[in-house]
Amino acid sequence: MEIIVAEKAGFCFGVKRAIQTAYDTAHETEGEVATLGPLIHNPQVVSRLKEMKVRPVEGLDELRGDTLIIRSHGVPKEVIDDAEGRGLRVINATCPFVKKAQNYASLLQEEGYRVVIVGDKRHPEVRGILAYAVGSALVAEDAKDLDVLGKVARIGVVAQTTTTLERFQRVVGRCLELAGEVKVFNTICDATSIRQQEAQEIARKVDVMLVLGGKNSGNTTRLSELCRETGTPTHHIETAAEIDPIWVSAAGKVGITAGASTPQWIIADVVTFLRRLGGEGP
Ligand code: SF4
Repeated sequence: MEIIVAEKAGFCFGVKRAIQTAYDTAHETEGEVATLGPLIHNPQVVSRLKEMKVRPVEGLDELRGDTLIIRSHGVPKEVIDDAEGRGLRVINATCPFVKKAQNYASLLQEEGYRVVIVGDKRHPEVRGILAYAVGSALVAEDAKDLDVLGKVARIGVVAQTTTTLERFQRVVGRCLELAGEVKVFNTICDATSIRQQEAQEIARKVDVMLVLGGKNSGNTTRLSELCRETGTPTHHIETAAEIDPIWVSAAGKVGITAGASTPQWIIADVVTFLRRLGGEGP
């Protein structure tokens, strides 16, 4: 059985940066460190961080220490202002690509554009970007969400970093029908699309695909859906302990990919497990 691991499996740049920030902050801080929401959607990493006294909280009132880490999704600016107003030490691990989307939303609003954010209404990153457009923005999950706008003079568009290009193009196309002037900032981060493309390419040439990542991780779930769409049997698992050897017993090739919040040690554990079952490589 040949084992093929995707080159882009695991942490993206922004998540790696946020995790490193959390580790560094934990080392240099006496008391407990809080993250606003789980730092990433991976239960194994979150529980390792808890062992280092880095604990997720839902609101500022729950803090036990005086240090707060902002995760890579970012938050509305008021949250940072509130935390600083309470005298907390705020470590901002917002991914620079998310920060760019926030800044463009703010700029477009200042320049008088009706701001449209293409993305998922409930996603924390989108709620953060929305707050930077100070009240004038509309979140469009797809082109039909713009029907409420009617004719407008000027529309400015930004994207949730993990939105697909197809969805972004549909919304921008509709904006062009509605407004005389449309200013577009493509703030999509290609880490997700590159990972998805590579996962599908591997899925097409293997007998079984293993997709590693939190069951609560949207990007890992999407990754496993895309692999399954190729017709290859696909299993979404969090750790090697979930692998049923029957899945791979007749496989000539097994592919492995992982979501953006899956650490390398989980990928390495799965490879080791498959090697014990007779797997070779990578
Ligand atoms: S997917 Fe892109 S934008 Fe999102 S955290 Fe990772 S690097 Fe940053």
